[in-house]
Amino acid sequence: MRLRLFARCARDDREQMTDDRRPSASPSRLAAYCRLSTVDCRLFSLPLVLLLALLSGCARRPFHNLPEALGLPPGTERVLTETQVTLRGGGHTFTFDRGKRTATLDGARYYLHEPATMNALGAKDSALIRQAIVRPTPPPARATILLDPGHGASDTGCRVGKTHEKNITLAVALEVKRLLEAQGHRVLMTRAADGPQRSLEERAQMGAANAIDAFVSIHVNSAANAEARGIEVYTLPAPGCDGTAANSPARAPMVGQAHLPAATRLAFCVQQALLTMEAPAPADRGLRHAHFKVLRDTPAPAILIEMGFLTNAQDFPLLAEAAGQQRLAVAIARGLNTAFTP
Ligand SMILES: [Zn+2]
Repeated sequence: MRLRLFARCARDDREQMTDDRRPSASPSRLAAYCRLSTVDCRLFSLPLVLLLALLSGCARRPFHNLPEALGLPPGTERVLTETQVTLRGGGHTFTFDRGKRTATLDGARYYLHEPATMNALGAKDSALIRQAIVRPTPPPARATILLDPGHGASDTGCRVGKTHEKNITLAVALEVKRLLEAQGHRVLMTRAADGPQRSLEERAQMGAANAIDAFVSIHVNSAANAEARGIEVYTLPAPGCDGTAANSPARAPMVGQAHLPAATRLAFCVQQALLTMEAPAPADRGLRHAHFKVLRDTPAPAILIEMGFLTNAQDFPLLAEAAGQQRLAVAIARGLNTAFTP
């Protein structure tokens, strides 16, 4: 709390100096802007205040206070080992790996926006987990959802033999549409046939041009390593944070980041539904973060689903065969419907 007060103190001071074109601000003026006592501000030199302001951007939630920070109920069980912190309460089980970027939230892998330290979780992750998983904002019961089957027309996406990603994403999306409409939701599509060929910009623009509650882009993965398998569900990284991949540095703020709690809710619900498909359920590669164009530029909660690896022998039937596509569609529709269940 004190850090936050001083962050505001330093920021207000800089703004005031610019506005008034004054070379410096006296401690008493700082106190006036900060609504702090004069004594408080005199204790800190301006460089120290600026340092504290910088540190406040990296605020963390200590593990001993984490249940409260996450909105978990009093009496939540907390188990600390050398390598992990596990919380059990309110119907949730969360495990955070100390000093790492990995966590397990209700059985599903989650990549943190900022690595946990040995003693604390980043404030951005703490807030998102609270807002998306523990205490989500009640959604509209009847949602308008824009489905985006990846690729199309001459853009085949990844392919193995005559099996093209563009056909898989369309088949799954059409079935998701049918299932969601049966639940009373309104569903739009960026394409409902092989074409038209749409750029990523056009897809995001369709999200901007319609009043939608969710944008769901559906894709299939591929890799040179034939062992790579499993699902990935993506949201944007939190403001100022790197993406999950190693070569994904933080970028300037983007429109989609305003909807990150709701997007995280969507991603979490879809990931849970995919992982609880009837056996054989896919492997879990985690809820990840990336600066994908369609996520960046869509002014609504937006997620991107990678349903598996076409290049993996175990994932291939799930993706390429009609029965597998049906299973994927049922799971994705179930996840989305859960996210829109108040
Ligand atoms: Zn794709």
